[in-house]
This record gives sequence, structure tokens and C-alpha cells, in this order.
Amino acid sequence: MRIESYFLLVLLFAFLLFSCKQEEIAEKQLSPEAQLAKIQHRIDSLQNFISSRPILKAATVEPNFGLFQTLQSVGLDIKQSLKIANTLADTVELGVLRAGQVFWVGFDPKDTSRAVLFRYAENFANLHFLMRDSTDEWVYKIVEKPVSIRYAMYDGVLQEGGSLYNSLKDIGIPQNMVGVVAGVLECKVSFRTDARVGDKFKILLKETRFQDTIWISGSVLYASYNGSRVKHSEAFLYQEADPKSSYNAHYTEDGEALIHSGLRYPLDRLHITSGYGSRIHPITGSRAFHSGVDYRGAVGTPVYAVAEGVVVQSSFSNDNGNFIAIKHSDNSQSWYLHLSQRGVGNGQRVKGRQVIGKVGNTGRSSGPHLHFAIKQPNGSWMNPLLKKMIATPKLEGAKLSALKEQVKIIKDILDKTEAAEPRSISDSLQATVKWVDY
Ligand SMILES: [Zn+2]
Repeated sequence: MRIESYFLLVLLFAFLLFSCKQEEIAEKQLSPEAQLAKIQHRIDSLQNFISSRPILKAATVEPNFGLFQTLQSVGLDIKQSLKIANTLADTVELGVLRAGQVFWVGFDPKDTSRAVLFRYAENFANLHFLMRDSTDEWVYKIVEKPVSIRYAMYDGVLQEGGSLYNSLKDIGIPQNMVGVVAGVLECKVSFRTDARVGDKFKILLKETRFQDTIWISGSVLYASYNGSRVKHSEAFLYQEADPKSSYNAHYTEDGEALIHSGLRYPLDRLHITSGYGSRIHPITGSRAFHSGVDYRGAVGTPVYAVAEGVVVQSSFSNDNGNFIAIKHSDNSQSWYLHLSQRGVGNGQRVKGRQVIGKVGNTGRSSGPHLHFAIKQPNGSWMNPLLKKMIATPKLEGAKLSALKEQVKIIKDILDKTEAAEPRSISDSLQATVKWVDY
């Protein structure tokens, strides 16, 4: 059996399993006739799909290639490449492509210039498919394989001569999580000045693995630090149903954000469609510098000032469309481009979190989005994602109640892991890990 046939079989199984699971609930409300028709339709479309037996080609990412160039490298025309890239962007956060990363494209054997299938493996457990249906529309499917979840509690003591990163690695924090954990701790503790040898910390991670060994994802549910110069402090992860909510962050039990000062986010919901820095234009292929971050947002979505300041520009230009620039107390400026409406004028004083305009599609813009940028006092742009940002300094009302509920659940997991058998990381270190599998 050729590898393509294997792949096709796996795909069909996954497709069947997934569509059954998804439609089970909806079908209960349908009449028997409608249910039959639906099942018949599914069989028909599946038979179409099997009979077409797409010819699969591996599209490998070359250095500095985007998805668009990668698709073209296996013979897709501009129109189909754009269609696939755009359909995917609606649902999947592709991020930065790695050289050597492979996508699979399936071509119609009767017309080998026509793509009918696209597959992107985000990791071993999450596979994304685009399939062209009988009406020539691209349909998106995600296949999620079962994963195992482990709650692991890492106990550590800051060692002589070790950096925070090394200390975290030494106590067994998985490589992929070291940076994230350090980021949470650094919000509370200035490691350069306040950390002392012998300080203790606890980290509770939620780890997701495929087949028990392959790392899929992780999050920091809880962190605490107890030091000679830093008072005992704790942080709990707060998450809203919307995974892109700008409120998803770490807070104290009382709802205080870990980062007290700093900028807030310009939108309530954050979905980055284009990052900061040098990029290749999808159509012209030319390299250009992107001075900010593009956040997706529907036209009319409120845009907030990220901090207190004075509006230094509120105007229109052919490139920026409607745009606003605000100067802050540290002489940096925040810029908001392509707005549909501007709500503040030149010279106006604004507060942090004040609505200053609405998301739009004005100027040189290929769809509704907010281009958000930070200009440093010296006049050069910087990556806005490198400025520490918060949605709010304190959760209140319904959000605070939701946090309290989540804290309860996290404390329950803490108790369970605490009761688990401690496993020593190494003989020489005062570090243990305890875990419970779910
Ligand atoms: Zn932009």
C-alpha cells in the first residue's frame, strides 16, 4: 500500500468519526425523512470523495516562505492559493511557518491543476482539513485525536548561581513551558534584584499529551512564590469561553492582574492575523516591513486607548485610512489604523480603556482589521507584543465571580496533586514533582 492510500484511509475514518460526533446532537431534532436525506447526502459526498482519490503532494515550507508561496510551489495557481490561505485564516492561527514544515495538498486526478484537499497538522493530535465539496466550496474540518491530560505540580527552590530559566529547567518544567512559567513569575518577582537563594516556588501545570509522551500543549494554572525579600504571592489562571479574550491571564485570588502598570489591549478579543516585522507580501512576493500588529475585528468593534495620553493625530491618509495616534507619559505613542470611525480629536486627553474609535477597513487594507503599532520616543517602531499588556488591572462583577469559581476548581486540583506521591527530580536538587492523570 502506498503512503497516500494509508493517508486517505486514515482521513476517511477520521472524517466519518468526526462528522458523526458533530451531527449526532443536531440530528435528534430533525424529522426521520430529513435524517435519512442527510445520511444519504453524507454517503454520496463520501463516495464522490473516494472515487476522486486525490493525488497528494507534500508542500514543504522553504526559508522565508509564507503559506501562499508554499502552496504555489506544488503547482497551485494564485486564485486557489489565496482561497485556501483565506479559508484557513478564518479558523486556524497559523503563526510563523517553520522551514521544513509540510502541508499536504490533494489534486483532482481528472484535472491535476485543481486542488480538492488541504491538510495542516498543527501537532500530532490536531489536524486541520480543507475539502472542496460538490458545490466547489471549500469546507473546513478539524480532527482532534484523544489526548491525555496531566496536572503536574512542580516544587522548586532557587539554587545558588542559577538563572531563573535554569532553575525551572532543573526542577523538570518541560522545555516548551519554561518561557511561559518564567513570564508569569517575572510579573511578581524582579529576579535581578529581589530573588534570593533558597526562595521557594510552586508551579501547577496542565499538560496535554498525545499517546502519553508527545507534548501537545500546556498552561500555567497556578504559580506561587515565597521569598525572603518577596512576600508570599499567588497567581491563578483566569480563562473565558472565548480563547482569544484579552482578559485571559493570571490574577490574584481577589482579581488583581499580575501586571499592575503597563498598557492595556486595544480590543476585547485578540486574533492576530499578521505580526510585527519583515514579511513577504502574499501577492507581489516582495519583502516589506510591517510596523505593527494586525488584529482581526468586525467593522464597528470598539477600539480602546491602551493607556492615558494626549491625541497627537486624528486624521485620514490614503495608506492609514482613518487613524489615531496617542502620546503617552513616557513619550511613546500608540497608533490605531484603518478605523471606520474616529471618536476623538487632535489635542484631546484620553484615559486608558476609553473608546477612541471603531474597527474598519479604510485606507490600504485588505479586510476589516485594526493595525496597532507602538512608536518609541526615538521615533522608531517596536513590536507591540513586547510591551507588557493587560486587559484590566482588576476583574470586577461577573468576571470576578467567574474567577472565584475557577480559583475553587484550581484549588481542588492543587489539593489532589498535593496528595499525590512526590517524585524526586534528581538526588542533588531540592525539587519534586507530583502529578495526577485525568
Ligand atoms: Zn498592519
